Amino acid sequence: MVAGHGEFGIAHQVIEICAAASGGARITRVVLEIGKLSAVLPDAVRFCFDAATEGTLAEGAELEIIEVSGLVRCEDCGREMTRDRPVGHCACGGSSFESLAGDELRIKAMEVQRQQQGVKVS
Ligand SMILES: [Zn+2]
Repeated sequence: MVAGHGEFGIAHQVIEICAAASGGARITRVVLEIGKLSAVLPDAVRFCFDAATEGTLAEGAELEIIEVSGLVRCEDCGREMTRDRPVGHCACGGSSFESLAGDELRIKAMEVQRQQQGVKVS
């Protein structure tokens, strides 16, 4: 598979943030939250993650990705609806939406080897 151009950079950034937060400890697990409206492909991030962790504190770390469904509000009629894609029209014909959820990309948690408890990064 071919990853989108952004995903390798995202994987690198995630590892950098985790490495900085781990205080030099080996990272064993990273939990990422990716919104379905963020245009980031979870499979591509997963694909890039292994390669990007090579030679870093996160080498061999397990990556868990939680996909967050999109929730948008129609700016014309105020109706809220779930969306897995940032396209489409409202039943009222409106096509501008305010994003309430689903465009996030954040590190939810990570675990390091020398501690039993996970470390919160966000
Ligand atoms: Zn509407």
